[in-house]
Amino acid sequence: MPAEEHTGSYYAATRTDRTAYPPLDGEEETEVCIVGGGFTGVACALTLIERGHRVTLLEQHRISWGASGRNGGQLIHGLGGTKQLGRFLSEDKIRALHYRGNDIIKGRIEKYQIQCDLKAGFIEVAFKQSQMDGLVEDYEEHREWNLDEHLRLVDRDELKSLLGTDVYIGGMINDLDGHLHPLNLCAGEARAAAGLGASIHEQTEVIDIVHGDKVRVVTRQGAVIADKVLLAGNAYQHLELKKLSGLVFPAGSFIIATEPLPDDVTDRINPTDLAVCDLNNVLDYYRLSADKRLLFGGRCNYSGKVPTSIEDSMVPRMLKVYPELEGKRIDYAWGGNIGIVVNRVPCMGRVTDNIFYSMGYSGHGVAPTHIAAEIVADAMDGATDVLQAYENISHFRIPFGQWFGNQIVALGMLYYRLLDEL
Ligand SMILES: Cc1cc2nc3c(=O)[nH]c(=O)nc-3n(C[C@H](O)[C@H](O)[C@H](O)COP(=O)(O)OP(=O)(O)OC[C@H]3O[C@@H](n4cnc5c(N)ncnc54)[C@H](O)[C@@H]3O)c2cc1C
Repeated sequence: MPAEEHTGSYYAATRTDRTAYPPLDGEEETEVCIVGGGFTGVACALTLIERGHRVTLLEQHRISWGASGRNGGQLIHGLGGTKQLGRFLSEDKIRALHYRGNDIIKGRIEKYQIQCDLKAGFIEVAFKQSQMDGLVEDYEEHREWNLDEHLRLVDRDELKSLLGTDVYIGGMINDLDGHLHPLNLCAGEARAAAGLGASIHEQTEVIDIVHGDKVRVVTRQGAVIADKVLLAGNAYQHLELKKLSGLVFPAGSFIIATEPLPDDVTDRINPTDLAVCDLNNVLDYYRLSADKRLLFGGRCNYSGKVPTSIEDSMVPRMLKVYPELEGKRIDYAWGGNIGIVVNRVPCMGRVTDNIFYSMGYSGHGVAPTHIAAEIVADAMDGATDVLQAYENISHFRIPFGQWFGNQIVALGMLYYRLLDEL
């Protein structure tokens, strides 16, 4: 596949780090070779290099070219699957996972002085009582963890003053979550890893993996010989198909960015600068950027195809929430692939003793990728308990290849979309 530059997103247009890492040419030996330069790969590279390992990271396009550089920028705690871990891990160990991604990210932003517009404050919003009941349950769980002081349930009236819309019946604010510029975060973590000695190569597609005590990671112009490998290609990954095909399916999610909005509008639609996510299965998410655009995203497409006009398919969704934005210019429209897993539990594990993988965060990945990257780094260092627990969770594997899988996922999502309407 020919190497591509960043997609035409708001994030690519406002990225602060324009470092270009050289393609791999020839052979390189390393301890850990990571395939994929999104959050999973970059976060793991940084964790490992901080621990003194030698790391080579290979990205077929640009660092953060995939979902990590295109997403809604909503920093939301948690990692899928923790509810199923009870049989394999202690309560304390599971509890430590919930906010680990937020802590890693906030720690790195401070340690490496990464300018990525981090803002505290996230609100989940409900359309119906069953969704509100779910929020109350979540609140109670946080009370058990002694974190309820960071949460606040809000009713319809208060929501109207917070978000300037009456389409929701209530919601819950969490000030440990928030939002950020994901491409600048990922590029900043890559720069930090490179500064500590990681060897990073962009425009370097991995085309084969040859197993052995020393793994040979074959690229178009060379190879990396490594003791251990992490496959971190998520929805874009096509390696090790014998073990990994049929587990994760690409689904398109799309975002529009309006022109910068005047203060009187932002004061009405989001005066406290919250990241917003609704609770539908086929959900909308939105927030203001640092320069006061509304970045409005949603999932439109589970068949893996891009709509003819992202703007035309997203603007009506935005106007349902904010009719007053009718006529505002749309400056950017883009999409990316999220990796959907049928049971919504990320696929983490090992192809062989020294080839690891982590993928399939099902639409929620800024914080989860950082948790998963640390779980993999720990396993590479010999602490395999959490990775092992995730390996124990069984995944439904859709047979007959990618096309058939995408049709199944599309059908499943149609079912969930109907549930949203009830
Ligand atoms: C539009 C959109 C909005 C989203 N919004 C949010 C949000 O607001 N909050 C949230 O938490 N999550 C969100 N997500 C999900 C989140 O972005 C992802 O879960 C997360 O970024 C996945 O990171 P990753 O590193 O695993 O994968 P990616 O970022 O997709 O990176 C994988 C990389 O691997 C590379 N690669 C693949 N195969 C090879 C190969 N053979 N050789 C070399 N390189 C290879 C790809 O080029 C790519 O750069 C969103 C996703 C999208 C698409």
